[in-house]
Amino acid sequence: MGNALIEVLERALAARREAGLHRTRRTIDTAPGPRIVVDGRDVLAFASNDYLGLASDPAVVEAARVGALRWGAGAGASHLVCGHLTPHAQAEAALAEFVRPCEGARGLLFSTGYHANLAIVTALAGRGDAVFVDRLDHACLYDGAFLSRAEVIRYPHGDVAALAGRLAASTAQRKLIATDAVFSMDGDLAPLPALLELARAHDAWLVVDDAHGFGVLGEGRGSVAHFGLADERIVYMGTLGKAAGVAGAFVAAHPAVIETLVQAGRSYIYTTAQPAMLACAILASLLAIRDGHARRARLARTIGRFRAGVATLPWTLLPSATPIQPLVLGEAAAAVALSQALWDRGIFVPAIRPPTVPQGTARLRVSFSAAHTDDDVDALLAALAEAVWACRAVR
Ligand SMILES: *Cc1c(COP(=O)(O)O)cnc(C)c1O
Repeated sequence: MGNALIEVLERALAARREAGLHRTRRTIDTAPGPRIVVDGRDVLAFASNDYLGLASDPAVVEAARVGALRWGAGAGASHLVCGHLTPHAQAEAALAEFVRPCEGARGLLFSTGYHANLAIVTALAGRGDAVFVDRLDHACLYDGAFLSRAEVIRYPHGDVAALAGRLAASTAQRKLIATDAVFSMDGDLAPLPALLELARAHDAWLVVDDAHGFGVLGEGRGSVAHFGLADERIVYMGTLGKAAGVAGAFVAAHPAVIETLVQAGRSYIYTTAQPAMLACAILASLLAIRDGHARRARLARTIGRFRAGVATLPWTLLPSATPIQPLVLGEAAAAVALSQALWDRGIFVPAIRPPTVPQGTARLRVSFSAAHTDDDVDALLAALAEAVWACRAVR
């Protein structure tokens, strides 16, 4: 007898496949870097968020190794029970001091950026409040907003005037503006100075998700420093698994915000602390970020070389100055075809499809690292020029 529960799942999975939205994982058989082995094949990859090449940096890896020997493999408990170890406390202080979104800011480590965003939004907003989200914000800001039970008010991407109208029209008790600082699939920056002005005018919090800016922008200090901003209403969230090359995330904010997250952030309280060995690796990574001028200069040069090269190809690049350089194709099938054509030439660039991006904006998300060389960029450009034909056939 067939199981009806399984049949329902299998029908839904088949429909997903037919729509070209089925996703599979590739298994990587090497440490992170530009040249990796993907499903048994050597490729040149432009796919990772390891923007500074720190995930395989010898000093960071060694700090994790030594940290594991000194502090063990796991933290053993949540931060509020007995999982908060000395390296966690040191990393929190160092990260807050480095980013400084306001005078006297404190730091708080989380196991992931997803956990951090859930904690921030649910601790600062609830029933009767309103959370204002950019249409292209990361899924976990949306999830935090929905979970908070506050009213979720979307505004068009980067549209400050539309947000101003929605803030003025809202009668919510507490207001919270939540934005990606660098949009994860487009690579553009949020208008943080204008958003902060609105937050001041409407007495709202400004939650800045800097997953893709920390380590890269503002001499490594992130997007808030990039714009020269500082304010007690800024709640800064940086992730540590992207440019920092490790794992986890941190919040830097006014001490009252941090204490509120410790007391009321359920995704902070009810989860095991990240292993202290990772906090050791994060401290080493922070030193590399602080002294990372050469890495950032190398990255900027790579991005410029790519943008200049693509100008001769039939695709329009989005106005991004960050390591995220999407080629928007439109239909999911076209993005998949171009990704496949590159793959056939030994180059791995993932196709990003709905629902990760809006319908009709399927794309190749090209991402760069300080570990890429000029030759790597030239190889990508040459493969793209050849692949133009593969893509035309689909259209
Ligand atoms: C990756 C990402 C997150 C989640 O961070 P993790 O540490 O991977 O959970 C949050 N926000 C944005 C914008 C991201 O790109």
